[in-house]
Amino acid sequence: MTRPQPQFCFPPPPRHSLAIAGTDARFPVRAIYCVGRNYREHAREMGAPADGLPCFFMKPAHGLLADSSRIPYPPATDDFQHEVELVIALGSGGRQIPPEEAMRAIFGYGIGLDLTRRDLQARLKKQGQPWELSKSFTGSAACSVLVRANPDSPDRAPQRIRLVVNGTLRQEAQTDQMIWPIATLLSELSRYEELAAGDLLFTGTPAGVGPLVVGDRGFAEIVDVCRLDFVVVPGPA
Ligand code: MN
Repeated sequence: MTRPQPQFCFPPPPRHSLAIAGTDARFPVRAIYCVGRNYREHAREMGAPADGLPCFFMKPAHGLLADSSRIPYPPATDDFQHEVELVIALGSGGRQIPPEEAMRAIFGYGIGLDLTRRDLQARLKKQGQPWELSKSFTGSAACSVLVRANPDSPDRAPQRIRLVVNGTLRQEAQTDQMIWPIATLLSELSRYEELAAGDLLFTGTPAGVGPLVVGDRGFAEIVDVCRLDFVVVPGPA
């Protein structure tokens, strides 16, 4: 039996998606989860403690750039910053996922930028308000093409991420330096939310976050796996 199609009062907005290496099929994005303070050196540079529970937050699906090679400078900031992060794309999900099963939910990996209005974040933090608008705006997430996880070795995650801007290495890390490893993050998050195919998880940034300005060119990469070349362009006023 086919379900009746809903009548929409206007055409529904397009679904955001990511390219997948080696196929024309695209990865349809559902929710975008992020982790804060997952590398000690970055927690230190932000003056934040690196203990307790992982700090999870979200970006809207429409926060993902349709074309991550062109990053628009957003309005309402004078300190727009990059955070390079390993991105996990889920091919399945569930609730209360045990850590030892979590890696099997991974569809693939990409390299992403958690783009941040740092001045606004500092101001909101100081006021004791949620820093939503500093992290969760249109164009706040950039991501490369996704590369499929190896189904024969699901526990093997990519090793090394880095970000180069205008020829200078800004950020670099081994993913085994994460405070909470990927399996722990997915398991922990699934205690609060039912994870599902189409979810992305930005796994936190290493030290070296810094400003981007219009005209900056660079690339983020999972070394030997995938790469995102980008330029920062003027955005909406
Ligand atoms: Mn981040």
